[in-house]
Amino acid sequence: MRGNICKNDLPKECCGLFGIYNNFDAAWLTYLGLYSLQHRGEEACGIVASDGKGLSIYKGLGLVSDVFSGDEIKRLSGHLSIGHLRYSTTGSSILKNAQPLVVDYLRGSLAIAHNGNLVNSIELRRKLENSGSTFQTTSDSEIIVQLMARLRNPNVVKRLVYALRRVKGAYSLLLMTKNKVIGVRDPHGFRPLVLGKIGKSFCLASETCALDLIGAKLVREVEPGEVVIIDRKGIKSIRAFPRQKKHAYCIFEHVYFSRPDSIVFGETVYSVRKKLGAQLAREHPVDADLVIPVPDSGTSAAIGFSQESGIPIEMAIIRNHYVGRTFIQPSQAIRDLGVRVKFNIVRDMIKGKRVVIVDDSIVRGTTSKKRIKEFRALGAKEVHFRISCPPHKFPCYYGIDFPNYKELIAVRLSHERMKKYLNVDSLGYLSLKGMLQSVSYDECNYCTACWVGKYPIKGRDRVRKSALEKKCCGV
Ligand code: AMP
Repeated sequence: MRGNICKNDLPKECCGLFGIYNNFDAAWLTYLGLYSLQHRGEEACGIVASDGKGLSIYKGLGLVSDVFSGDEIKRLSGHLSIGHLRYSTTGSSILKNAQPLVVDYLRGSLAIAHNGNLVNSIELRRKLENSGSTFQTTSDSEIIVQLMARLRNPNVVKRLVYALRRVKGAYSLLLMTKNKVIGVRDPHGFRPLVLGKIGKSFCLASETCALDLIGAKLVREVEPGEVVIIDRKGIKSIRAFPRQKKHAYCIFEHVYFSRPDSIVFGETVYSVRKKLGAQLAREHPVDADLVIPVPDSGTSAAIGFSQESGIPIEMAIIRNHYVGRTFIQPSQAIRDLGVRVKFNIVRDMIKGKRVVIVDDSIVRGTTSKKRIKEFRALGAKEVHFRISCPPHKFPCYYGIDFPNYKELIAVRLSHERMKKYLNVDSLGYLSLKGMLQSVSYDECNYCTACWVGKYPIKGRDRVRKSALEKKCCGV
C-alpha cells in the first residue's frame, strides 16, 4: 500500500503557462517552456497543439519530464501550441482537472490554460448549472469556457470578453482555437504574463526564464486588462477593461514563487530578493559568524543579507533536487525524516558557530522548526532566523496556496511564542515598508493581502480548494 505524501513535498507553486504561434516545432518549444517553469507547478501538465485543422492534446499527472516522452510530443503536430503546469488551488489533483482544458463548441474546439484563482466561481457555477450547463471538471477555469459558450457570437474574442466581464479574481490565461493563440491578464494584473518573439513566432509565458530557454526575446509584459490575439494576420491587442489606476501585482512572486533569473513586473527577481535581504540585514542586524540560506527559496535574500552585514555566507544546507512529490512515507517515524530527505546540513560548518538562517517565509512553521532542531543537534552555538517578508496572517484567494487562518502559524502565535516554538535566539521578519521599498513600483501596484488582510477585490466568495468538489458531491 502506498503511504502518505509528505506535507513538505506538496507542491508550493502556482500555475505556469507557455504558448507559441507560427512555429513548426510549437509543441517542442512549449515542452521546453514548461520545463523551465516547472517550479510553478509540479502536480500535472499538458500541451495542446493545432495544425490549423484541429486540436490534439496530451496531459498527465507529474513533472513535465515524466509526463512527456518524445513520442507524445511528436504526435502533437502543428504550428501553434499552448501548455500548462498545474498546482491546484481550486479543484483536486485528479487528471480531469489537468489543463489545458479542451471543449468542443458548435464552431470548433477551444483550449484554455489558467494561472490564478477566480473568487466568484461558486456563484457563477451555480447560475450556469441552473440554466443547463454541465461541467466536466471541478476546476474554476472551466467557468470561463462555459460562459464563452453562452454567447451566440461567432467571434471568439467577443465571447471571451463577454466571459471576462463576468468573472472576478486573478487570472492570466492562454486560449487556443485551431488557428489563434490568445493571452489575457486580469485587470488587476495579479499573475505575470509576458510576450516574447523568436524569429517570426510570437510566444507567451508566465515568466521570462521560459523565453530565455528557447532563445526568444522579451517583447513586453501583457498589460493588466489586455487581450493579445496572435494569428496569421500577426498580433493584435485589445482592452477588455478600462485601464485601472491601481494594480495588484502579487509581490509574493518576487519573494518566493518566480525563478530568480526571471524578469517579473519589470524587475529581475534575483535583484529584488537581494534587496529584500539587504533591507532585512538593516532592519534586524545580528552579531553572528555565518549567514546560511535555506535553498533555493532563501538563497538570493541571504546573499543580500551577507553583503549588507559583512557576515560571510556559507551554503551549509544542501538540497536534494531529486526529491519529487511522490516521495513515499509509510510511517510517522519515516515522515519525521522528511526535512532531511530534502535538505541536509554540512556538519563541520555548524559546531560552535553563531548562525543566521535566511528564508523567504514561514507559513505553517513545521519545516522551519524541524530544520532549526537539526542545527541545534549539530551544536550551533546560536541560531538566528531571518525572513525576507512580513509574517503571513491572511489566506490568499488569488492563486497561492496559503492555508486558512488556523494553519498560518503567525496567526496563532505571538512573536515571543513563535521564537520559543522555533527554538531560536532571535527572529526577525522584514517589515511591510521594507519589502515594498525593495521593488520599484509604488505600494498601490502590489497586492499585500496575505500580510495586511486588505483584499483588492471586494465581494469574494472565498472559494476553498475543495469548495467546488463539495458542491459537486452535494455536501
Ligand atoms: P514552514 O516552516 O513549514 O512554514 O515552511 C516554510 C517554507 O515553506 C519556506 O521555505 C517557504 O519557502 C515555503 N513556502 C512558501 N510559500 C509556501 C506556500 N504557499 N505553501 C507552502 N510552503 C510555502
